[in-house]
Amino acid sequence: MKFSNLSIRLKLVALLGVSAAMALVVSAILSLVLTFFSVRDESLRHLRQTADIAQDNLTATLAFRDNSSATRMLASLASNPRILAALITDEETQLFSIYVSPAASPPDVAHYLAEVAALARQQHTQLFLQHEGFASIAMGYMFAVNPIVFDGRTIGTLTLLSDNVILKERISAFVLMQLLVSVLTLVIIAFISIRLQRVFTTPIFHIIETIRTISQTKNYAVSVNTIQNDEFKVLYTHFNDMIAEIHERDSQLSRLATTDPLTGLANRRHAMDVMQTMVTRARRKQEQFGLVMFDVDHFKRINDQYGHPVGDLVLKSVATTLTRAAREIDLVARIGGEEFLVLCDSSDLETTHQIAERMRSAIEQAVISGTDGTQLKVTASAGVYASVPDSEDLKVSLSRVDAALYQAKEAGRNKVVNWEKQ
Ligand code: GH3
Ligand code: MG
Ligand code: MG
Repeated sequence: MKFSNLSIRLKLVALLGVSAAMALVVSAILSLVLTFFSVRDESLRHLRQTADIAQDNLTATLAFRDNSSATRMLASLASNPRILAALITDEETQLFSIYVSPAASPPDVAHYLAEVAALARQQHTQLFLQHEGFASIAMGYMFAVNPIVFDGRTIGTLTLLSDNVILKERISAFVLMQLLVSVLTLVIIAFISIRLQRVFTTPIFHIIETIRTISQTKNYAVSVNTIQNDEFKVLYTHFNDMIAEIHERDSQLSRLATTDPLTGLANRRHAMDVMQTMVTRARRKQEQFGLVMFDVDHFKRINDQYGHPVGDLVLKSVATTLTRAAREIDLVARIGGEEFLVLCDSSDLETTHQIAERMRSAIEQAVISGTDGTQLKVTASAGVYASVPDSEDLKVSLSRVDAALYQAKEAGRNKVVNWEKQ
């Protein structure tokens, strides 16, 4: 699995976890090195102190070549279980006395002593002329070599070998402690990072969720909000601006698609869509559905006499009059040049006729004022048709209301005529 393909949540948790783990590893290695050196120095200091004390007591035994006292004194080192061996050599680096712990493995001790003897030979000047000892740590053991000084002269050396058990124990305890602390720290960091990642991911998921909702519902009337005052706030603000703009354009487009620009009424296409819905419902409920078609009388004359702009004004005025006279549930639409359609939901022939008559009368009475002060009046004729629809097809009803309108024109205009079967 590629890191870049992980979710943002996992990436953040992994990032915090890896950074913390690396910091822990570096600090653990540093403290381990420091601890190793301090424990090593302390262990060597102890060994040298033991060597110093033993050496004070051994000076006389070597000076007077009292071998049995020396052996006894070395044997008393058995009280310290960490001492593997002790060795006294004389001025000629010949063995004077030796103690080997019963717990130690003789081949190991022999090997260690050989190594230390080789080092002591290298440090001969330091031991015999400068009267200074040395101590160090090696694989599996520690050692201290002290010069035995009598009367201002090095008359031999005391070598102490000790195991590294204390050093190993303390380092192991430290490593164990360090591991426990690291695991605990990682658990705490994991917990914190899981909480902390929300600060980054919640706003992102919020936006993703909003975009998903928009694409599913096509509803742009949404916005996202955050209490965070960071870059997400900027992102949210721009996102909201963008969505608001899309929303505005969307509303404009649907307004343009459904509205007649001159009168603001529903256009023919929208009227047909609404009529289809009304007819389907009326058919299902077996209810009456009423239809009125208006046509302005001698409208051509108005255009010819006053000009096209006044004609437009008349159309707007008729539209307003029709809308005012309509009921809340009716839909008034402009379906042609000076033709209007009124959809009367749940209306029988009588109600529809009443609505049409109210509209015709209102048009007749309305006085239309032109911009130049001219005042004019118009009339309109209407055809009415109402029925329980027996078909989903709109053409039949439309042709009937159109036929009724033709009758109204024929009957002398400014009339409302119901459709009648011929
Ligand atoms: P009738 O009483 O028989 O309906 O006569 P009419 O003159 O109203 O009928 P006709 O269909 O002959 O004339 C309709 C006129 O409406 C013709 C056209 O120039 C005009 N017209 C169509 N659309 C518009 C428009 O948007 N603005 C204006 N000012 N006139 C329009
Ligand atoms: Mg016409
Ligand atoms: Mg007309």
